[in-house]
Amino acid sequence: MIRALLIANRGEIACRIIRTARAMGIRTIAVHSDADAQALHVRMADQAVAIGPAPARESYLVGEKILAAARASGADAVHPGYGFLSENAEFAQAVIDAGLIWVGPKPHSITAMGLKDAAKRLMQQAGVPTTPGYLGEDQDPARLAAEAAQIGYPVLIKAVAGGGGKGMRLVERAEDFADALASCQREAAASFGNDHVLIEKYILSPRHIEVQVFGDAHGNVVHLFERDCSLQRRHQKVIEEAPAPGMDAATRAAVCAAAVRAAQAVQYEGAGTIEFIADGSEGLRADRIWFMEMNTRLQVEHPVTEAITGVDLVEWQLRVAAGEPLPCRQDDLTINGWAMEARLYAEDPARGFLPSIGRLEVLRFGSAHGGRIDTGVYEGAEVSPFYDPMIAKVIAHGASRDQAVERLDEMLRGTAVWPVRTNAAFLVKALAHPQFRAGTVDTGLIGRDGDTLAQPPVPSDAALECAAQALVPRSDAPGFRLNAAPRLRARFLLDGEPVEIALSGHGTAQPAASALVMDQGQVWRLEPWRRDGVHGAAAGDGAILAPMPGKVIAVAVSEGEAVTRGQKLLTLEAMKMEHTLTAPFDGIVTELKVSAGAQVQVEALLARIEAEEGAA
Ligand code: ADP
Repeated sequence: MIRALLIANRGEIACRIIRTARAMGIRTIAVHSDADAQALHVRMADQAVAIGPAPARESYLVGEKILAAARASGADAVHPGYGFLSENAEFAQAVIDAGLIWVGPKPHSITAMGLKDAAKRLMQQAGVPTTPGYLGEDQDPARLAAEAAQIGYPVLIKAVAGGGGKGMRLVERAEDFADALASCQREAAASFGNDHVLIEKYILSPRHIEVQVFGDAHGNVVHLFERDCSLQRRHQKVIEEAPAPGMDAATRAAVCAAAVRAAQAVQYEGAGTIEFIADGSEGLRADRIWFMEMNTRLQVEHPVTEAITGVDLVEWQLRVAAGEPLPCRQDDLTINGWAMEARLYAEDPARGFLPSIGRLEVLRFGSAHGGRIDTGVYEGAEVSPFYDPMIAKVIAHGASRDQAVERLDEMLRGTAVWPVRTNAAFLVKALAHPQFRAGTVDTGLIGRDGDTLAQPPVPSDAALECAAQALVPRSDAPGFRLNAAPRLRARFLLDGEPVEIALSGHGTAQPAASALVMDQGQVWRLEPWRRDGVHGAAAGDGAILAPMPGKVIAVAVSEGEAVTRGQKLLTLEAMKMEHTLTAPFDGIVTELKVSAGAQVQVEALLARIEAEEGAA
């Protein structure tokens, strides 16, 4: 049995692991970077060890520091969570060599699934269907082109050492093959130090189906059914559910059996996921579902499996790591109802999903019967620019898929976060998408309809009135005019834009300076209209502030230049992504504080736009 567990991770997954470990009577040890000294996982754990500066490369990714923390705290086991060092076979071996229990598969199982071509070959030997394609050693461009023609276009070229969506090229026509191959090989050599590629049939209408598997040290392997994670944005999962819509019993049996064979082929111990790609153009069919890769760790979306099976997967991980056999047999596992998880991110869909950093002054989650929130933050905590900006996983469970959708919708609509922006309203819209409702989502849905989904909703009259009430004095309201009806129409500023709101109530004795409007997962700030025309910073303030710390990589305008609303001003590189900052309205660039190459702090003034006379 494990007595003291070090969790080599942060955020919601560290908190999730601590919860189960505590319930099992295991002492918990958190590790944290300087940026995370006040983080929830640090507060929850029995003990916390500082492991270095904020960047993960200098803290959460440094194996020696984690091992030193384990020694110092007397831990006898290490749980890696997901991400960071969770699929690093060398680190797993180092943990074992240090005489500690590694809560995960044996290093050789991780390695076997590390390279795409070797993994696919191994799966073929184990009788697991793989995407049609070429896995050969012969990397001669002419041979590869001939293989692509043989497979039939469109094809995908994949770097065998690739990951995270990198080193992949879609080729639609034979005449584009040579260029795509050369560019894929260059990227693969630069990113992974290995330019070997494989070629795959490109699946149209692809659905992402994955199977949760579990193995123990006694040779037992079971599956815990499938999840559907087809709703993705740029290969990142957005909403996951279990079971998969449209999966009949025979297809499920075939896919889950293939997943168990895959796990057995690498003597798998612990929690793992076999990811498949399905051609969903004619529903889910066993002969159109192919192995894609294995994730040798606990997944972000594991709660939907827990909800439908009643199994605590972290408890199983800890028991299996300690050498116990699996707590139950395949026949004991059944599917109960339907579960759905949405990933709530600190990001602004209206601004290209730019991460939104800062203090969570308001953090409220909606609730529904059977609902679960997995989070790593609390009200008052900071969303830091250093890590994944996920605020929480919102998980609903119902008797049917419709009920799960309704409950997740209820939970998301009741969620209010301020002033950090979130994707909650985007998620609400995604849930209402006809293709999502029909259960026929393919991985390209958000790519096609994302712009519509990302448009912020309009607050309802009821939500506006409710917030406006707090801004209106109980009597003698100057600036208000009475309508013929016994309703008052009053002017306010909603996120800086003038609005008229009809009020039927009487307001409050002591009006507030501003109020929050919360509706459909979105939050707006409502302020009283000021007759002098001088409004708060949100009202037409042309200060262009850095949304997060980063580096200015391009400046597209110069001081004194006239710009139009939406015109590109600067490009900022932050969190490994490029962010374009645009003019909020037509005007003149009156100040330009930075040039290309400048490092800037969050909220730093980069430029100022002033509206031309009369334009405001
Ligand atoms: P990575 O290891 O870089 O994440 P994967 O092989 O897992 O690469 O593929 C990433 C994503 O690309 C998948 O989730 C899927 O959406 C898409 N994809 C992969 N293979 C195919 C294919 N053969 N046809 C269509 N889409 C694919």
